[in-house]
Amino acid sequence: MFDTLQDRLAATFKSLRGKGRITDADIDATTREIRVALLEADVNLAVVKDFVAGVKQKAKGSELSKALNPAQQIIKIVNEELIDILGGDTRFIRFAKQPPTVIMLAGLQGAGKTTLAGKLGAWLKSEGHSPLLVAADLQRPNAVQQLQVVAERAKVGVYAPQPGNGVGDPVQVARDSIDHARHGLFDVVIIDTAGRLGVDEEMMRQASRIKEQTRPDETLFVVDAMIGQDAVNTALAFEQGVGIDGVVLTKLDGDARGGAALSIAKVIGRPIMFASNGEKLEDFDVFHPDRMASRILGMGDMLTLIEQAEKTFDAEQSRKAAEKLLGGRGEFGLDDFLSQMQAIRRMGPLSKVFGMLPGAGQLKAVSEIDEKQVDRVEAIIYSMTPAERADVGILNGSRRSRIARGAGVEVRDVNDLVNRFTEARKMMHSMGAMMGGGMPGGAQA
Ligand code: GDP
Repeated sequence: MFDTLQDRLAATFKSLRGKGRITDADIDATTREIRVALLEADVNLAVVKDFVAGVKQKAKGSELSKALNPAQQIIKIVNEELIDILGGDTRFIRFAKQPPTVIMLAGLQGAGKTTLAGKLGAWLKSEGHSPLLVAADLQRPNAVQQLQVVAERAKVGVYAPQPGNGVGDPVQVARDSIDHARHGLFDVVIIDTAGRLGVDEEMMRQASRIKEQTRPDETLFVVDAMIGQDAVNTALAFEQGVGIDGVVLTKLDGDARGGAALSIAKVIGRPIMFASNGEKLEDFDVFHPDRMASRILGMGDMLTLIEQAEKTFDAEQSRKAAEKLLGGRGEFGLDDFLSQMQAIRRMGPLSKVFGMLPGAGQLKAVSEIDEKQVDRVEAIIYSMTPAERADVGILNGSRRSRIARGAGVEVRDVNDLVNRFTEARKMMHSMGAMMGGGMPGGAQA
């Protein structure tokens, strides 16, 4: 969604690279380019003005650090300003002291509320909570049934009106659901409310009444990031009509320009709390302003990657593998390679994982990573004996043809893998030697 903005900013920063010092004229030229980039990305005009003024003031002011080169300084300032317009610190859900915590979802029809209820439910469950989804959207045909399906998929509880029992009164359903949660030991209630195609008074009134009656701990405004400046206007209308605590951006996987969505937090003074970027349950994340800023600046989303890596990696195993790879004790073998590769694959589809690395997003090769090719590499390694995996040196002709047969590939493919692996290992060894073994501390930034 932010590709064009990323490209424009990257080009802007590139023109600063190599400059020994930055003059006021450079700063003016750079901020002009940033202004155009933001406006083209559909960022709200008032937000752009503030942003550019902030960058200019900091860049010309005394905050410049001697440790950074001029391009780095500007990137740092732009990064800080971006984090600021995106809401500053990450804002997590405020849980009620006395359960259940009540989360109300509001927004236009089609914004993705029902889908989000499932995602939020699944996420809360993975965090150790016991969520209950509540179908208080009785306007849209099938909305109740859709929520039931979503809850089942997310493996969380659902409270839906039974025919003849409160049907037609979403306020009653929402109120009853809280008692139901207390009795059923659910500690979070997620209320899915009705939306309309456009903002209207009746919808606002109903949302306000549900809010009054259930006193949510969090009222979240769910908005489709693809609708441009309407996202900002709708957010303002909901803030004034219902009162909201936080924003959830959906459909960030779309190819619209996205700048409007980035303006919401600043314009309405409420943080973006979650982001949804796909139709599947797992296409969902807590929104971290700092990570989004570094993603937009093309620094990749290193933190997300590191967090995912932490979840899936066996730290001890990785440390040993890295040590071997850099020429320490033991020899890095195909068995180490296999387990590292599998650890990476557990983080998600490879193109997605590598896409988060700095600069990798633009590489065509990354979007074309062929998972089948990777499957084939795995199959080849699986067809080897442990001794062969540990030491590719023993792979003579007959071993190679046995492995090829076992993996259902040509001998050529086995040779190819072994050669590339040996080359790569050689390169890592010389890198290890260059770093003198003292990895992070010894390495020069
Ligand atoms: P509601 O009317 O606000 O409850 O919206 P729904 O949850 O029914 O979503 C409307 C449509 O948007 C559905 O087809 C969803 O599958 C789709 N949708 C929801 N979130 C996302 C998202 O993050 N990305 C994409 N591509 N589609 C989404």
